Amino acid sequence: MLLPSPIHQVSFRGKSLFVKRDDLIDPFVSGNKWRKLKYILQDAAEKNKKHLITFGGAYSNHLLAIAAATAKNHLKATAFVRGEEVSNPMLTLCKLFGMQLRFIDRQSYQHKEALFEEHYANDSNVYFVNEGGASKEALIGCAEIIEELKEGFDHIFCAAGTGTTAAGLLKGINKLQLQTTLHVIPVLKGGEFISDEIAMYESDLNKLQLHTDYHFGGYAKTTPELINFIKDFTSSTGILLDPIYTSKMCYAIFDLIEKGIIKKDAKVLMLHTGGIFGILGKIDQFS
Ligand SMILES: *Cc1c(COP(=O)(O)O)cnc(C)c1O
Repeated sequence: MLLPSPIHQVSFRGKSLFVKRDDLIDPFVSGNKWRKLKYILQDAAEKNKKHLITFGGAYSNHLLAIAAATAKNHLKATAFVRGEEVSNPMLTLCKLFGMQLRFIDRQSYQHKEALFEEHYANDSNVYFVNEGGASKEALIGCAEIIEELKEGFDHIFCAAGTGTTAAGLLKGINKLQLQTTLHVIPVLKGGEFISDEIAMYESDLNKLQLHTDYHFGGYAKTTPELINFIKDFTSSTGILLDPIYTSKMCYAIFDLIEKGIIKKDAKVLMLHTGGIFGILGKIDQFS
């Protein structure tokens, strides 16, 4: 476990960027998923629960993180996987770490607590972990990213799926009263809802800026421009981006600098939230 995660300075397209390498914390429990799981695992241990039950899509970084973390901690894990039964490299890795997979139709998947009740009502050993690890424990873990910073930044960027990570970062920024703007890039279409999600956890949104135009068509959608950006950034910096989350955020950073919205000489920190195995689902596009 590489903690605190290092900050690397890179230069790309003539601009300097600091990268908080949460992708290096652990190869499989990577990035923000490690941050989210830290206190979830602690809570499960305190409650003496040995079997984690969780939820995710067929290419979920969260499932892989849970699978690897439970294996390491001698716990059991079962995942309800959204949709019809499929096999892919990500799910194969999950199974390799000993995770049990239960495919579930999209309708039933909507009702996670009902599923949990239905299947595990009489099992005192189980612990419910929400999709993506969303929880108050996750927020505490994500706020610690800010507490690890030893210097100030004008701007911090992060990608958002549910907004839990962003909420934790904002909590950290507000708590330490930093003069830092948090820029959040939703990776889904219609990402305006992310500010409501964040507001459920953190009421002071003054330091928050949401950029909703960098979804590239929607969740897990890509364009040739995005794929080329990943190739260019990775070969120029040695830092691999995933096509679902971090590449969209990183693209946004350089686009906002290009447009003059972020000043060229500003000190910018990008949070690399990991998830690079997401590239396995899009690997054909890179050949
Ligand atoms: C899950 C994930 C996110 C999204 O985190 P949220 O807290 O759901 O917003 C961002 N980046 C990566 C690499 C992820 O795996």
